[in-house]
Amino acid sequence: MENLFTYPKEISGVIRKEEIMRYLDKDGGFINEEEIKEKLSQNINPSPSRIREILRKSLSIQTLDPDETASLLNVKDRDLWEEIFATATRVKKIVYDKRIVTFAPLYCSSYCINNCLYCAFRRENTLVKRRKLSLEEIKREAEVLAGEIGHKRLIVVYGEHPTTDADYIAETIRTIYEVKVRTKNGYGSIRRVNVNAAPMSIEDLKKLKEVGIGTFQVFQETYHQETYKKVHPENTIKSNYLWRLYCMHRALEAGIDDVGIGVLFGLYDWRFEVMGLLYHSRELERKFGIGPHTISFPRIEPAFNTPFVQKTNYRVSDGDFKKLIAVIRLSVPYTGMIITAREPKKIRQEMIKIGCTQTDASTKIGIGAYSDRYNQQEAERQQFILGDTRSLDEVVREFAQMGYITSFCTAGYRCGRTGKCIMELLKRGKEAKFCKLNAILTFREWLDDFASDETKEVGEKLITQEMEEVKEQIPSAYPKLLEYYQRISNGERDLYF
Ligand code: SAM
Ligand code: SF4
Repeated sequence: MENLFTYPKEISGVIRKEEIMRYLDKDGGFINEEEIKEKLSQNINPSPSRIREILRKSLSIQTLDPDETASLLNVKDRDLWEEIFATATRVKKIVYDKRIVTFAPLYCSSYCINNCLYCAFRRENTLVKRRKLSLEEIKREAEVLAGEIGHKRLIVVYGEHPTTDADYIAETIRTIYEVKVRTKNGYGSIRRVNVNAAPMSIEDLKKLKEVGIGTFQVFQETYHQETYKKVHPENTIKSNYLWRLYCMHRALEAGIDDVGIGVLFGLYDWRFEVMGLLYHSRELERKFGIGPHTISFPRIEPAFNTPFVQKTNYRVSDGDFKKLIAVIRLSVPYTGMIITAREPKKIRQEMIKIGCTQTDASTKIGIGAYSDRYNQQEAERQQFILGDTRSLDEVVREFAQMGYITSFCTAGYRCGRTGKCIMELLKRGKEAKFCKLNAILTFREWLDDFASDETKEVGEKLITQEMEEVKEQIPSAYPKLLEYYQRISNGERDLYF
C-alpha cells in the first residue's frame, strides 16, 4: 500500500485515492492471499459425497462459498470430474437454456501508456503499428458490423491513453448507436455496446452510463499481487492493483448495473485465480446485491514482439482450461461466461457445452480492420493473435447444428432487466423464458437479413423446434410471439419481450 500514490503527476491525477479507500474494509481488501491458499490446502482430497453435495447446491443456482469452490478445484478423480462437467452443463441449461449470445470486438485505439509485459500494445513496443480511429472511421466499422455481418452487440476496446479518455469513449459509443443501415429485409443497428477499457473514476463512469453503455468490463489479469507487480511495471497507472480491483465497485456506484470481471490465465496458478474470481463475485454480491454479469477467462496468446508470452510458467493446458470453466460455472451459476476467438474452434465448441454463454465471431482485432479489407490478421497491428477467425454465418450454423440458438437479443437492459433484477431472474431460472422468446425473434431477423442459404436451412429447423417448445412450455406467451414473428417476417425490426 505504501507507494500506491507516489506516481508522476499525470498518473496520480488519474488514480483517486479516495475512490479506493472508501471500499476497503477494516481488515484490508477482499482478496486475502493467505486465506485463499489456506482454503486450497485445507480442502484437498474431498470425498465424492462432499462433491455431490456441492453440485446439488450449484444446481439450486446458489453462489458457492470458498471452501466449496476449493474442494471442486482439488478433485483428482477422473470420474468425479466427468460428474462435475455434466453438472456444469445442467446448470447452464437451467439458467440459459440453449441460447448463445454473439458479439464482435471493435478495437478503437492501440495507443497505451501502460507497459503490460504480455500485451503487444504496451508502450515500450515501438515496433507495433498504432492507430486511433476517428468518429467517422468508427461509424464505418459499425456500418460493416451491423449492416453486412449482422452483429447487434459490440464490445469496444481501448488502450489507456489521454487521447482516448472517457469523453472519447462516450463519443464512440454515441456514434455507434446512431448507425442504421438498410439490409436485405429490414435494417441493421448495434443495440448494445459493452466496453473493455481501463479502470475509471466514478465521474468518468457516469459519462459512459449516460450514453447507454451495456456491460463495463475490466479484467484484473491476476489476483496474485506479486505476479501483478511483476507483469505491470512500476510508474504505470495499471501497476496500481487496488485501483483496478475496485473499479467494479466504482462502476456500480456510478449506476452501471452490468459489470464484467476476468482473469488473464497463464500469469499465475489457475486454481488461485479461480478463487480470486469467486471472492470478487461474492464481494460484489455482498456490497451491492449484484454479482458479475459476465466472467471472462482469456488464456494468454502469442503477441507481436512480446517475448514474455513464451516465458510464462503458468500456461493453462486444454484439460485444466475445461476444469476451470466448469468450476466457474458451478461457483457463480448465474453469471454469463465469455469464450473468445482467442480460442480455436474445437475448444470453443467444447467449452460452450460445459458452461460458456457468449462468444464472438467474424472477429477482427486490427484497428479499423472491419472496413479496411486489406487489413487482415496482421500481427503488428494487433494486441495478440486470434485462434478462430470464422465468419458469424459459419459459427451460427455450427451452433444450430449443435442444437444451440444464437441470440441477438439485447432487450434485457433496454427493459430494465439488468443488475439486481436480472440476477434474481437468472437465479430463479426466469430469465431463460424471456430470452427464449427474444432469441427466436432476433434469430428470425438475422436469418432473413444475413444468413447464407445453408445456414438458413439449419436455422429454420431450429426455430420450428423452439416455437413448438414455447407453445408447450409457455403457452400464455405463444400468441404474442406468433404475432411478433409474423411482423418481423414482414420486415419490422427490433420487437421484443
Ligand atoms: N487496456 C485496457 C486494459 O488493459 O484493461 C483494455 C483491455 S485490453 C485491450 C483487453 C484484455 O486483453 C486485457 O485485459 C488482457 O486480459 C487481454 N490481453 C492482453 N494481452 C493478451 C494476450 N497476449 N493474449 C490474450 N489476451 C491478452
Ligand atoms: Fe495497455 Fe491494456 Fe495492453 Fe496493458 S493490456 S498494455 S493497459 S492495452
